[in-house]
Amino acid sequence: MYKTTGFKRAFVLILAAATSVAAGSVWYWKQVTERLSQDARAMIVNASQELAENFDRLLGTEFQVLFSIAVSLDSPGALEDQEKLVVYLDRQNRRNSFTLTGYQGPEGRAVFSNGNVLQDFISPQNVEEIYERGHYISGRRKGPFSGKDILVFAVPMPAENGHSAGIVFATQTIEFYAQALAANALQGESLSFILNRGGDIIIAYPRAVYDNLFKAGADSSFDRGRSSLRMQQDMSQGASGWTGYTLRGEHRYASYYPLEYNEWYALSVLPTKSVADRAQTLMIMSLVLCLSIIVVLGLLLVFILRMQSQSSRALYRMGFVDPLTEADNLNAFRFKFPRAAAAFKEKNIPYALVMVNINRFKALNDIYGFEQGDQVLKQVAAALKGSLLEGELFCRSSADIFLLLLACPDRTELGRRVDDVAVRAGRYHQSSGESMPLSLTCGIYLVDENVPFYIMMDRANLAWASAKQHAGQICAFYDEESRRQIVIEKQIESNMAQALENGEFKIYLQPKCDFKTGRTHSAEALVRWMQPKRGLVPPDHFIPVFEKNGFILKLDMFMLEETLRLLKKWKEEGKPVVPVGVNFSRLHLQEPHFIDELAQTADKYGVEHQLLEIELTESVVFGNVDLMKQVIEGLHGKGFSVAMDDFGSGYSSLNVLKNLDFDCIKLDKEFLARGEGNPRMRQIISGLVRMVKSLGSGVVAEGVETAEQAEFLSRIGCDLAQGYLFSRPLPPQEFEKRLLDERDKK
Ligand code: C2E
Ligand code: CA
Ligand code: CA
Repeated sequence: MYKTTGFKRAFVLILAAATSVAAGSVWYWKQVTERLSQDARAMIVNASQELAENFDRLLGTEFQVLFSIAVSLDSPGALEDQEKLVVYLDRQNRRNSFTLTGYQGPEGRAVFSNGNVLQDFISPQNVEEIYERGHYISGRRKGPFSGKDILVFAVPMPAENGHSAGIVFATQTIEFYAQALAANALQGESLSFILNRGGDIIIAYPRAVYDNLFKAGADSSFDRGRSSLRMQQDMSQGASGWTGYTLRGEHRYASYYPLEYNEWYALSVLPTKSVADRAQTLMIMSLVLCLSIIVVLGLLLVFILRMQSQSSRALYRMGFVDPLTEADNLNAFRFKFPRAAAAFKEKNIPYALVMVNINRFKALNDIYGFEQGDQVLKQVAAALKGSLLEGELFCRSSADIFLLLLACPDRTELGRRVDDVAVRAGRYHQSSGESMPLSLTCGIYLVDENVPFYIMMDRANLAWASAKQHAGQICAFYDEESRRQIVIEKQIESNMAQALENGEFKIYLQPKCDFKTGRTHSAEALVRWMQPKRGLVPPDHFIPVFEKNGFILKLDMFMLEETLRLLKKWKEEGKPVVPVGVNFSRLHLQEPHFIDELAQTADKYGVEHQLLEIELTESVVFGNVDLMKQVIEGLHGKGFSVAMDDFGSGYSSLNVLKNLDFDCIKLDKEFLARGEGNPRMRQIISGLVRMVKSLGSGVVAEGVETAEQAEFLSRIGCDLAQGYLFSRPLPPQEFEKRLLDERDKK
């Protein structure tokens, strides 16, 4: 998702850049051409003006030279001798680099520096003009001897007494002046002309194709165009100006400026092609520059985007991916949860948050090592993830805890599915091929309320904890009852140590009685928790919790000492003393010094070991007969008697019984209850009692509540009865009183 927006943005950016570059180019092109045209116009106007000035100066110089020659000829006798005159003229001619220099006398006889003589080389009208104006330039004409195009300059000799004394003249080739125009040709791009007002071209650089500008020819639109008209108009009035026109398909700028001499004009022409050329060059250069900038910027953009997406990918990984399993982490799960949940809601499919935990993962880590532990996590994660259906989510929340969001069209179906997935995910095999004891426990919270995510987590967790309480159960659903249960357990756990110190645990004694006489034969020590706020709490509420957390070890030893204290007290006070049974959890059996500790404690109080009966529950026996045998032998060795508690409640096995030397078997009250109104069951019970007796053990019936029960149990050979029919568990004082009463009755 992130990636696409990035590229989309980049694409839009590039498109925008390209569009603006295109628009900018067009605008730039226009600006450049406009600017260049302006420049060209300014340049051409300037050029014609300069051309005019330069040419005026050139002509002025020619006249000055002629004047100085005229003055030098005005000495007496200078014109008398023709031979001498020719020599003189020739010398002047060479010095001033005219083509020819000459003198034309008043009678019209022209003598040239090359020695030739021509009559009326300069026509009589022109001679008149020369005297009038003081100077003369011919139009373009043919040279008298060379046949080349030339110009003729002439000035009058100083007048003598009002009579004309002749004219000094010189000729120069058009070619010569054309070269002079070349200097004004703007690096060869422009054309320079000297022309008269009628458009006759006198001098041109480069050589002109037409003789007259305004009669350029049929292929020209200039001589018929408006530009031509304006130019003619301007020229007839002696004004300067500029114009643009097209000649033979080529657009040109033309600028004209009047000369001082002969009403001639200097004309500069610049083809716009050169302007366009320059604009194009400039444009191409700018475009190349622009494109390179765009390319560089583009590369930079790509680079930045790449960096950005890389770092955002890295950031995403850091924040949302579990590095070990590559699965989503809790953050990612929380992030995706609302949308996934909403999708289920929309389709009206109930959904559940499932918490999965690997049982005893810490121990697994300790035993097999962290590397194996990591492998287990990876495989479990893969299996869980692989079980997902469309729209469902999965993450590794922490260490060995995984979360799933699963669809739950049917509650039982989901329970079965989770069981199934857990079993499959738990089937882990080491790379060595050995299988590893691996099991998972799951808590399911069927989301039925709009509660915050952490509360959902909490509920799935509570469900998990309640599943955990029942051995062999893989998953449990969250319900209010299990939540309450867990809250209570938490309370118990947080209070137990303090309660023990505060003396809140009390010993009660329940008599084991003779069926016939009802007299107290012995007793069982039962714990009660006297909670300041709740009053007396029966052991069923807290013993299972203590067995889970190990606190039972402390409590049992406390109860042992309480029992010993009573026995010691009775003895010391001379009161009746009976043996007392003390309950020990199966957890003690794992303790290596259990038996020694028992003996030492009993000795500490100076109580004979025979007065203690150790009650071990049947479930202890099941599964580890050898250990049990050892313990019983050890206890017997110290003189304690041993009772098997709750016989018949679980997996009773007569075979096991045969191998174990219990002093006494306590029939479970539930077991007896099953015999109520059930003749077959009664038969089994009586057979069992007979067998136990034949093995040499005593039999105590627990939970005897009715006379009828007592009668039956007594009849089948039970030795003692422990039940409400005879007595409830009593506080020590009451129990003592009972014993005393019994002694007194004797
Ligand atoms: P348990 O060892 O089987 O103890 C006998 C239980 O049966 C006692 O329950 C007793 O009050 C009850 N009982 C006796 N006669 C009758 C009767 O006629 N009808 C009925 N319905 N119940 C009767 P309690 O005191 O609630 O103890 C429950 C269990 O807690 C005990 O079962 C025992 O397993 C455990 N427990 C009690 N104190 C200790 C202790 O100090 N250490 C350990 N490890 N477990 C203890
Ligand atoms: Ca017991
Ligand atoms: Ca029992």
